[in-house]
Amino acid sequence: MPTLFEKIIAGDIPATVLHRDSRVIAFLDIRPAAPVHILIVPNKPIPTANDIADEDESLIGHMFIVARDLARQQGIAESGYRLIVNCNADGGQEVYHLHLHLLGGRPLGPMVSRIST
Ligand code: 5GP
Repeated sequence: MPTLFEKIIAGDIPATVLHRDSRVIAFLDIRPAAPVHILIVPNKPIPTANDIADEDESLIGHMFIVARDLARQQGIAESGYRLIVNCNADGGQEVYHLHLHLLGGRPLGPMVSRIST
């Protein structure tokens, strides 16, 4: 079964695509958590961060380069942004196709609540 993001990559499910190259696609998140919320997704369907192979090192680096460039294009490079990869249940992962969230456009607050104050 292709993942949801494979269907977006194939054009079978519509998305607002901001970047596409031979290794990754980047599109707007359908339920944005910030004024800028972009998903950077490898074309290769790696299920989770646990499944990243040594040979994917360059691909993972490329995802960050694309995120950097999109942050500049969106005008949030200087104000700041957050890059997130959720992994498995405790990480809150919903779609099991590796992706990098690029979030910004407002102060995002603490990353997660502290165990104790
Ligand atoms: P995760 O929780 O797996 O890290 O993030 C999955 C993200 O995919 C969520 O932020 C969710 O809003 C987004 N998403 C789920 N379904 C779709 C869809 O059909 N299209 C787009 N563009 N984003 C989606």
